[in-house]
Amino acid sequence: MIAAVSLLVWAEGGAPPAAIPVATKREAVSVRLPGAAFAAMETINPEHIRWHVRFLSHDLLEGRGTGQRGGDIAAEYIATQFAEYGLKPAGDNGSYLQKVPLVGITTLPETKFSLVPKQGQSAAMNLKPLDEYVAYDQTQQTQSDVDAEIVYVGYGIEAPEYNWDDYKGVDVRGKVLLMLVNEPPSDDPKFFKGKTLTYYGRWTYKYEEAARKGAVGVILIHREDMASYPWEVVRNSNSGEKSYLKVEGPVLKVASWVQLDVARKLTADSGMDLEKMMADARTREFHPVNLGTKLKAHMVSNVRHFESNNVLAMLPGSDRNLKDEAVIYTAHYDHLGIRPDMPGDNIYNGAVDNATGCGILLELARAFSVAKDRPGRSIIFAAVTAEEQGLLGSEYLGKHPPVPAGKIALDLNYDAVPPAGAPEEVEVSGAERTTFYPWVQAMAKEFRLAIRPDARPEAGHYYRSDHFSLARVGIPAFSINEGMKFKGHDEAWGLAQDKEYTEKHYHQPSDEYHPEMDFVGDGAMARFGFALGWEAASFTRLIGWQKGDELEAARIKSQ
Ligand SMILES: [Zn+2]
Repeated sequence: MIAAVSLLVWAEGGAPPAAIPVATKREAVSVRLPGAAFAAMETINPEHIRWHVRFLSHDLLEGRGTGQRGGDIAAEYIATQFAEYGLKPAGDNGSYLQKVPLVGITTLPETKFSLVPKQGQSAAMNLKPLDEYVAYDQTQQTQSDVDAEIVYVGYGIEAPEYNWDDYKGVDVRGKVLLMLVNEPPSDDPKFFKGKTLTYYGRWTYKYEEAARKGAVGVILIHREDMASYPWEVVRNSNSGEKSYLKVEGPVLKVASWVQLDVARKLTADSGMDLEKMMADARTREFHPVNLGTKLKAHMVSNVRHFESNNVLAMLPGSDRNLKDEAVIYTAHYDHLGIRPDMPGDNIYNGAVDNATGCGILLELARAFSVAKDRPGRSIIFAAVTAEEQGLLGSEYLGKHPPVPAGKIALDLNYDAVPPAGAPEEVEVSGAERTTFYPWVQAMAKEFRLAIRPDARPEAGHYYRSDHFSLARVGIPAFSINEGMKFKGHDEAWGLAQDKEYTEKHYHQPSDEYHPEMDFVGDGAMARFGFALGWEAASFTRLIGWQKGDELEAARIKSQ
């Protein structure tokens, strides 16, 4: 196999996705695993991954709900394995656990939400919850009041790398900002990455940016084609309790969405035309517009404090100069818990999502721990919580890393790696945005894995997995998963497997362990990640983002 291989490829070789500058000069890329690393990698055993999955997805773990008994048992199990491997605790106070303080917010029916035009104009609109608007109070208070002017800020984006600023320095402190979802449409890869969704297009960014600028509220206008999902999705994911990290920075009293028709009426009442406003927002010349209309909101919330834990362990590096730096592996261990009121099987076992990632993480930790030599940088293993609640455990980890973010070379994440046999492809979406990509390409070649590109870059999957929590604090990060082509099958088979999982088992109680599952592919993904992580932990220079990437600024800031 690939003991102490020396493979030479050109950085410009292979086929990087169109328009992403991979390397500016010809640079020799070699992937060379030292003998000790290769021997340790060879001990990775798919059956070990199986036994972890079997246990973690057992009914007794009650779906590993965040802040619930089953989730805590999973955390203890993982911590116990780390201890057995002889890894150093990297959590709070010399333990393996890093406490993650969480808050569950439920918007109560007493909440009032009205749009009040200027005196003498049309009557106030009292909006109907869920049908016409959804709103959460992010301040984590039981009551908040907002009585503030509404300012339309187009897409609500300030992106210096694209020479784009919707705010134009206008003071929005104390205001409520009306804005569009997504980003200015374009086919030009140099402008908001063309069809690929950037983080600026995500609603999470829009809330965060508005809060940073001192706004008290945001009203997002839902238009189905721009959001890429119907109002039903907004409604369903914004009813009932929503979890947040305990507040640390600026937040909004009103984080809300309204139906397109509501926005149309609101702007018409202010004497404006929504279609024209949307068109104006697509130009660099756009300037914020004060509607004159006010949002009058009385937010009433139920606030529930609870906690969960990330599980962190470290293998100290061997190089005097590099050991303060690290490579980190992540996988979330939480899932959706149990639904006591549901008849029949009501345990969300989460075998694929994400006991598989945890099994891989644990097997990686074990393999690194048996290596006769260690890489120069330290290796951190992090099983994170509350991913299903919105990447919260990893967000907390990104804000409170055991090693400063600027000293973390790379994060490799695993989330839902199907036990479907031997893969012939690997997905590493986001890797092409980092300076590490030529090595990823070389390593994939070495493993005889074809790199499968992201089929729907406009959907923004990159922003919906735990690696993004680390990317946003500057750490080069991506997930490793199998593609669609498996040994002995054609691509159609792989696509059919994927479709069946998505439609029938994804986030369902039927995502369960079966003895006939084949973990060979999980083992292959673990080996591939082991080799990449070892490589990244031995580099003399730190890995960064490609020039001009939206995440480059965060990396520079962290260093
Ligand atoms: Zn999930």
